[in-house]
Amino acid sequence: MSTIQRIRQKILDKDYYMICEFCGGQTTKKKVKRQHWLHGKLYIVENVDAEVCMECGERYFHARTLDEIDRLLGDEHDIKDRIEVEVVSLQE
Ligand SMILES: [Zn+2]
Repeated sequence: MSTIQRIRQKILDKDYYMICEFCGGQTTKKKVKRQHWLHGKLYIVENVDAEVCMECGERYFHARTLDEIDRLLGDEHDIKDRIEVEVVSLQE
């Protein structure tokens, strides 16, 4: 998380939220599905804590959440499913 984001964090009555960098909206906590790259491999990680902007939908992840994902993937872990991914390119 950047210093700017850290400064913009606010704590009100234990309700934590962030101010969106793009639109200035408020975030709310949600569990989301995240595409996560680690050592050149792409993973889909479900059930990830995120701060999601209520205005524009931008998603923010805490550094500790990203570290937790790296740790999980680095260790032995259960694989829920596998998917095939198409790589495509727009015409130049
Ligand atoms: Zn926003």
